[in-house]
Amino acid sequence: MDTAVQESVRVLKGVGPQLAEKLGRLGIEDVADVLFHLPLRYQDRTRCSAIGELRPGTEALIVGRVEASGVRYGRRRSLMTVISDDTGRITMRQFHFSQSQSRGLSRDRFIQCYGEVRSGPAGLEMVHPEYRFLEDREEASVEAALTPVYPTTEGVGQRRWRDLTDQALSLCKGSIPELLKDEYLADFGELSLSDALMLLHRPPPGVDLDTLGRGTHPAERRLAFEEMLAHQLAMRERRQRRDSKSAVPIPLSRELWPRLQEQLGFTLTGAQQRCIDEIGSNLGRATPSLRLLQGDVGCGKTVVAAAAVLAAVEAGQQAVVMAPTELLAEQHLSVLGNWFAQLGLEPVWLSGRMGQRDRQAACARLASGEARIAIGTHALFQDDVAYQQLGLVVVDEQHRFGVAQRLALRNKGQTDGHVPHQLIMSATPIPRSLTMVMYADMDISIIDEMPPGRQPVETVVLPNTRREDVQERIREACARQRRAYWVCPLIEESDVLAAQAATSRAEALKSELPELRIALLHGKIVPAEKDKIMSAFRSGEVDVLVATTVIEVGVDVPEASLMVIENAERLGLSQLHQLRGRVGRGDRQSVCLLMYQAPLGNMAKERLATMRQTTDGFAIAQKDLELRGPGELLGTRQSGAPQFRIADLARDRALLTAVQYTADKLLRDHPDSAAPLVARWVRAGLAFSHA
Ligand code: ADP
Ligand code: MG
Repeated sequence: MDTAVQESVRVLKGVGPQLAEKLGRLGIEDVADVLFHLPLRYQDRTRCSAIGELRPGTEALIVGRVEASGVRYGRRRSLMTVISDDTGRITMRQFHFSQSQSRGLSRDRFIQCYGEVRSGPAGLEMVHPEYRFLEDREEASVEAALTPVYPTTEGVGQRRWRDLTDQALSLCKGSIPELLKDEYLADFGELSLSDALMLLHRPPPGVDLDTLGRGTHPAERRLAFEEMLAHQLAMRERRQRRDSKSAVPIPLSRELWPRLQEQLGFTLTGAQQRCIDEIGSNLGRATPSLRLLQGDVGCGKTVVAAAAVLAAVEAGQQAVVMAPTELLAEQHLSVLGNWFAQLGLEPVWLSGRMGQRDRQAACARLASGEARIAIGTHALFQDDVAYQQLGLVVVDEQHRFGVAQRLALRNKGQTDGHVPHQLIMSATPIPRSLTMVMYADMDISIIDEMPPGRQPVETVVLPNTRREDVQERIREACARQRRAYWVCPLIEESDVLAAQAATSRAEALKSELPELRIALLHGKIVPAEKDKIMSAFRSGEVDVLVATTVIEVGVDVPEASLMVIENAERLGLSQLHQLRGRVGRGDRQSVCLLMYQAPLGNMAKERLATMRQTTDGFAIAQKDLELRGPGELLGTRQSGAPQFRIADLARDRALLTAVQYTADKLLRDHPDSAAPLVARWVRAGLAFSHA
């Protein structure tokens, strides 16, 4: 084990309780964390650049002669100093300067500047560079190594970071064992871990700055690779551990499910049938399964879950269906409850808002085994709930739950040593290349086909200035008994402001569309009230629902056929897709109007174009990944996706195949190195995932 690096940061000189606390905010607790805290970027002060070769957008060190200097009175007063060498000239521009500074910049003095080059009105310029005067050109001083710039938090300066990393590097020299055999590192120049860390913290002059700091240098790729490999191994180990436990095998239902199918009123799509078969192959085994059922909103996951629930019941087991909100849970109760009632089964309802009496009665029926199915929210795994024989746990929209919550529910089933099977449903489309790595410990089924007869939502992109036309469309639609959503996303990073924006939009619409019933929904409204508003919208007592992005989660109102999103340019693709998925759920043609505030940036332009071109969630997820990386795509830490220190799934996705392949090979050829790799990279309990 890497003992020196596991010591607390407090072993480093100069780190007292206060600094330790600040570092803790960045997630840095031990020496290894300091080592893996890599520079964001680098400054090259190892050589002087010729002024004639400078490119805008780069940082450079230059030496030149002052040609002229003087104060300019434009929109803002500034001191402009023209500096030249044999190859060209550049302007140094200062908005803040003292008399003596301006006097000091006299003609023909030699000066050395470091700063970012930009293109200004009169050619290249540097705004407020660091500078000092030289006696002559020869006196220019350059540094021996590139200067690292670390990501940091308030009160921890760059000099401190250099000191901390210096200490950590020398403390660990020779004490970080190399866990990867050379054969795994062929693609990364066979760089050892310590050499890679050394190079990244203290890059020698001449290193390729076009790749370093961008994640494409072999040293960075090597670290990212080792980290992703460690996570992969950890997930596989989880899977193995699960495989060593026992579960009650659940054969596919031969009686209840066929009876339900006859009464459904529709035929399953090929994709739904395939997913049921895949789930069946898990449930039939005597080890607890964990399967992720993925499929875009509206693809029909609920009926697939129903097939699994019925199989469990027929096998003499109990099954629970858990949703993250009351509203979603109620939706399941009403849909599944209807279906199951036709088979003489009555699910028990458990929610946080039930009265004590009802709750006790529900618990009693579950504990005695009289009830075979439970539907509800988090209330399903509270301490006082016991199951007689829990065989299957179905979780909807799993990313909304903490992993701990789901495990609490699973652990309910550990009567007589059996662990229940788990089926997790998610409407968040994730590109296949990512699922392989993120959910290596789960089996995955994808419903990649929509039920027949769905009309794809027509998407129109238009500027905010066309708001009156949009209101006219709402008026027409509502006159034809349709319902509309009007979404006001975050204006700033603040719920309060979003709520304000939605509130004032609702007021404006009320006065401009007086004949319509308009309701308002935002994050500051208490849950009970929220549900009331949603129910009114669902039942048709409300025509237009003005909301912040809170309506994103799977609410089903088939009569809603118009979705208006203001300031759509501010939202990411996945979020736009989720919002648009609120309409197009019935058999009518639905329309999504994406309004934007001009001018549009390139990224925003591309996002809106993508939305107009496709309604395929997987295609959109792929595009999202390309445009901005997986962070947003995967949601929060709670999604159960691994949290990486160095790797970035979007940037490093070219490594994913190698990670899989290497994990196979390593477990086969060098299984002993798996545990230390996991211990080095994967923080217990934090990194993931799905036990
Ligand atoms: P989601 O995957 O978003 O949870 P649902 O399970 O709520 O989707 O299904 C959306 C709607 O499609 C429901 O009204 C459901 O009854 C209907 N549905 C599901 N499967 C089919 C099918 N094969 N043919 C027609 N309609 C279907
Ligand atoms: Mg659903």
